[in-house]
Amino acid sequence: MSSLRGGIDLHTHSTASDGTDTPGALIAKAASLGLSTIALTDHDTISGVSEADAAAKEHSIELIPGVELSIEDGDIRRFHLLSYFFDVNNPALTSTLEGVRRWRSDRNALMLERAQAEGIDLTFEEVLDEAGEGATVIGRPHFAAALVKKGLASSINDAFDKYLKTDRPLHVAKPSLTLKAAAELLHAAGGITILAHPGLIRWAQPAELAVYIKDLKNAGLLDGIECYYFRYDDAQTEFFLGLAHENSLLVSGGSDYHGGNKPDVPLGSVHHGSSLSPSILDPLREASRLLR
Ligand code: AMP
Ligand code: ZN
Ligand code: FE
Ligand code: FE
Repeated sequence: MSSLRGGIDLHTHSTASDGTDTPGALIAKAASLGLSTIALTDHDTISGVSEADAAAKEHSIELIPGVELSIEDGDIRRFHLLSYFFDVNNPALTSTLEGVRRWRSDRNALMLERAQAEGIDLTFEEVLDEAGEGATVIGRPHFAAALVKKGLASSINDAFDKYLKTDRPLHVAKPSLTLKAAAELLHAAGGITILAHPGLIRWAQPAELAVYIKDLKNAGLLDGIECYYFRYDDAQTEFFLGLAHENSLLVSGGSDYHGGNKPDVPLGSVHHGSSLSPSILDPLREASRLLR
């Protein structure tokens, strides 16, 4: 029996942002793997949720609406925030996400200007081509794919190293929401706030990060942390489970599946190659219910 069967994955991306499966294809794949529940957590957009929801009904699996927002808390503290169970029709939420999309489109224009200045002949159409139909959030991974196609980089990773990461020629800082703004917005829409992959955070040592997370919880801004994650080793999972327990934070987990844009990360593979037990959802659901 598959270690995925009956399980859940709470962190996935579709073509609505920088994944390569359409929302419908993602759900069909989840169903074929025997997963029971998927959360769609595209970057800065919920535009894939309705297609995913229709596919989930067709395949008799559960779709949880989600999103992954980029947050800045001061100059240094940048991280991703996941949210689940919000009302997808909440006007403040949809209009804020629309605003984030406008920031991104201004940034993309600046990145193209940078490319021109570097003597790289890159058009927005070429970048869009890499995002595919239905993409509402265009970002650096699409620029990376276009640069690879032009033969200017050997892989997505190489394109980031050469051109796109901080301090590289095409890099333009992305305006982000503050945690306070994001948490207020999400909570008002019935969404819980979960710190995404804290084990990938490099701007704080684990001990500092633990204090920071505790402060966020005490301030009412953070409800939980992603304790299970494809790229974690056992020590990281244990560390974040301990932190969640000590601070009464919710426990979440997911693969961060991106299809062909992260080819080593399989759908549903959250912890030791397995998906998570559906029982992990009960406290998350209850916390969201209490927000309404
Ligand atoms: P953006 O939101 O446009 O700044 O793009 C950020 C996304 O790029 C992240 O969510 C990652 O999925 C991806 N990314 C960042 N660094 C790398 C890298 N070195 N190699 C591949 N993908 C990356
Ligand atoms: Zn991504
Ligand atoms: Fe992330
Ligand atoms: Fe992600």
